[in-house]
This record gives sequence, structure tokens and C-alpha cells, in this order.
Amino acid sequence: MADMKIGFYGHVQQYHDLKEEIDRAIHEVLESGSYVLGPQLVKFEQELAQYMNAKETVGLNSGTDALLLTFLALGIGPGDEVITTSNTFFATAEAIWLAGATPILVDIDPRTRNIDPPRIEAAITPRTRALVPVHLYGLPADMAAVSRIARAHNLLVVEDCAQAIGARGDSFSIGELSDAVCLSFIIQKNLGCFGDGGAIATNNADLATAVRKLRNHGSLKRSHHSIGYNSRLDDLHAAVLRVKLKRVDEWTRLRQGLASEYDRLLADLPLTLPYTPPGYRHVYHLYVIESNDRDGLQDYLASRGITALTHYPIAIHQQEGFPWGREARVHALPFTEQSAARVLSLPMYPELTRQEVEFVADAIRTWVRRRTNARAEGTSQGSEVRI
Ligand SMILES: *Cc1c(COP(=O)(O)O)cnc(C)c1O
Repeated sequence: MADMKIGFYGHVQQYHDLKEEIDRAIHEVLESGSYVLGPQLVKFEQELAQYMNAKETVGLNSGTDALLLTFLALGIGPGDEVITTSNTFFATAEAIWLAGATPILVDIDPRTRNIDPPRIEAAITPRTRALVPVHLYGLPADMAAVSRIARAHNLLVVEDCAQAIGARGDSFSIGELSDAVCLSFIIQKNLGCFGDGGAIATNNADLATAVRKLRNHGSLKRSHHSIGYNSRLDDLHAAVLRVKLKRVDEWTRLRQGLASEYDRLLADLPLTLPYTPPGYRHVYHLYVIESNDRDGLQDYLASRGITALTHYPIAIHQQEGFPWGREARVHALPFTEQSAARVLSLPMYPELTRQEVEFVADAIRTWVRRRTNARAEGTSQGSEVRI
């Protein structure tokens, strides 16, 4: 196959595919003169609530603020411990810190790479207030187990669903077993606007009202009930998201089709492929494989014109910016650290073609063959060795 260039994102192509509709939506907002807390935001919140099967949603300026404002609205703050995973984007723990609470990081289940419920149980103290499962890469965490633990210890549950809109578990849907669901609409997420955006979805009307106040300087109409933030989702973004929300399920199906193509083409190679527990609906925000020589594979793919990225090569507790001074406790995290050293995200977006997936898989196969041959010469080990 002739060489191709395969990038990591398809959002410019996505814009071109929807150009007429998006341009019209943006133009209407521009002509309306209503750009902040306007009618597009109200309509988007209604449509998103329907999609999420939630009583209410509140549009915010980012997924990070969705987490922060939810914690604040739930009264989580100084003295409280919040249990989450270290195998996530920095913002999950950052929002806990910003609320004044202490993130307690526990290890992952190495197969799903999501928070491991028995480790939550072991990390609970009298100060524990909340659990924050992250649905990493588009695969829901085991919410049935998380919510059993939460009920037994009277804890709040906030789902970090920044990567998993449209996903579901075997016996549960997103939002069914928690106090709130936090979403991100930054462009690279499965539902993305042209910039930053986020939202919460909840069945708790009081919580929704509290977050509505916090996003607008503590105000609902004119007066200010409390100190707040400036964290609203702009009408321009809401108008674009309304166009795109209608396509999310179709895009998810395309992602799933590409994922099964990768699964099929890579199945016989000595690499670790994504695992989906039976009955779960994985929405493949990312298609993440693992190799002991992740850097070598990433470099080889780059030399073939293929962009593969890492999510996340440095776990939260390994970050320079981790505020150790804030008495954050870290439990042993061997699986998280192993994952950080091994993960590689292959190109995965709805606009990717099957030919491109074949090209990526062929390149990986060539790299594996070369590595195996090089090894066999040196050590006489065969292709059974995991690389
Ligand atoms: C993207 C992301 C966030 C933060 O969302 P922003 O909109 O970028 O602020 C939080 N958690 C996870 C798991 C994410 O992937």
C-alpha cells in the first residue's frame, strides 16, 4: 500500500461534512444578538437531558468546571477525601483539589483500566465523602459495584463521563447510579464544540439549581445568592452542539465498527488490546493498545506517517504538579504505573476509513515482525513473547 498520512483527529473533516448546517446555526446565533445564557443554551440543555435520560442538564464552560462546580454544589470541600483513579486526565484530581478536598488515588483493574472497586473499599476512611469513577477511553467503570460501596458507606458518587457520552454498562446506564454525571465538549471528545465546553446531567433538581447559580456568579436572575464563578456554555457552542448531538449515536457506531476492525486485524499479535466486559457499550473515545516497547512502536508508526498518542503516559501521582504538600494519600498503584508505561492510542475517529485502519494494522504487524525477528536472532525466543 502506498504511504498515507493518518492524523489523530477528524474534526476538520467532521466540520466539512456538516458545514452547511453548522454555518447556518452559527450565523443564526450571530444575527440573534443573544450570545450568553440565551435560547440556544436552553434548547441544548433540554435536548441533552433527553439524550442522557436525565431530569436536568446544566451547560458549563468545560468538563473541569463541571467536576469542580458539582463538588462545590454538593458541599465537598476541605477535610473531605474523594476517592478516584490515578489513571485519568489531570483535571479529575485537579477539580478535587480546587474544591479544597483531598484526592485519594487508588489502582485500576488492569483489564478495564478503570477504577478497581475492591481498592475503593480498602481506601475508605471516616473522612471519605465521595467517589469519582472515570469512564476512561469510553468504557464505563463498574458502576454497580461503585454504587454498592457508596450506599454501604453513605458516599456521594460523581461520574467523570468526559470520554464516554453514549456509553452504558451491562446492568446500568450512565447517570442511573450516581448523583451527577460530568461531561466535556472540548473539540476532541466524542461530542465536541469549537473550543471548550462542558455540562452536568443529574436527576437532582436542587443540585442542578446550585450549579446554575455557581456558573453565573452565584446568581439565577438578578441578585447574587452566593459567591460563584463565570462558567457558562456560550450560545455559539450550544448551537453547534445541537447540530452534533443528533449524530453522536451514528458516530459511536462508526467508532465501534472501526474498533472491531482493529480487534480483528490485531488479534493474533502479541500486544494487549482493549477489553470490553460482556454487555457493556464501549464508545471508543480512544482505542488504546499496550506494548512493552510503546515508545518504539509509537516512533515506528510516526515514521510511517501515522500519529499515535499516549493517554496517559504520566499518571496523576507521577506528575510534577501533584501537590504532595496537601497530604494527598496515594495507595500502591502498580497497575496504573504499568499502564502509563505501556499505553498507545491508535487513530480513532468516526471519519477514519477502514483502509486507514488496515494501513495502521499493517504497519503494526510489520513492526512486530521486525521486533520478533530481531529478538529471535539474539535470544532464540519465538513469537510467543509478548512485546
Ligand atoms: C477532558 C477530560 C476532562 C476535562 O474536561 P475539559 O473540558 O477539558 O475541562 C476531565 N476528565 C477527563 C477524564 C477528561 O478526559
